[in-house]
Amino acid sequence: MAPTFIVMLGPPGAGKGTQAKQLAQRMNLVHVSTGDLFRDNLKNETELGVLAQQYMNKGELVPDDVTVRMVEERLSRPDCEEGAVLDGFPRTPAQAEALDDLLAEMGSAVKVVPYIKVPDDVLVERLSGRWMSPSGRVYHEKYNPPKVKWIDDIDGSQLYQREDDKPETVRHRIEVYNEQTSPLIAYYRDKGLLVEIDGTQSIELVTEDLTKAVEEA
Ligand code: ADP
Ligand code: AMP
Repeated sequence: MAPTFIVMLGPPGAGKGTQAKQLAQRMNLVHVSTGDLFRDNLKNETELGVLAQQYMNKGELVPDDVTVRMVEERLSRPDCEEGAVLDGFPRTPAQAEALDDLLAEMGSAVKVVPYIKVPDDVLVERLSGRWMSPSGRVYHEKYNPPKVKWIDDIDGSQLYQREDDKPETVRHRIEVYNEQTSPLIAYYRDKGLLVEIDGTQSIELVTEDLTKAVEEA
């Protein structure tokens, strides 16, 4: 069977990571988050991590060429042979075109693009209450709290807040999304791949809508 590539689209804080992890598990696909990949590089103090940090801390996008090279390397690994759920990529029209070329080389194409829609004012509250586990699991102090405050349910590690989830940086990230990423809504709608999902619902209801959208595709 041809590999299945799903692109999760939506502003920062829409719930892409939360949903992408579950979806990937259910579909037995890999979850590829470019944000997680940059953060792993940062933790390991690689050259790529040091470069990316300058952009991430300011809420800016890492340059396209660097990002596309990183994704190309990730998708070439054997665990992506069946496909992947892409989260946080593409984020610019140039990245979307590069992804189309890359997948074409693999004899594949984007299958469906769930677009999780959430208004800007909700995003600020979502991101300022986001608690992360070092393993990448995502919690929210109010909407998805861990059983014990600041402790990961699964492995007991200490949760932390992302440097770029500070309100000033969040507001800038939303602007960057509106300017540079939102053109992808039309890009994928024109290709007939976009499915809009109301991201203001509970996590469970978003999961239900997302599952339906992917099954129909
Ligand atoms: P993204 O990957 O799109 O930036 P996340 O999945 O990290 O977004 O979610 C951002 C924050 O909002 C997290 O703290 C998460 O727990 C919370 N969250 C995700 N989906 C919902 C939802 N449907 N309702 C309320 N909070 C949510
Ligand atoms: P995220 O975890 O998706 O919120 O991404 C965190 C940060 O990583 C972003 O604010 C960007 O600085 C950087 N980043 C993640 N994905 C991309 C991408 N596709 N293109 C450029 N920068 C990215």
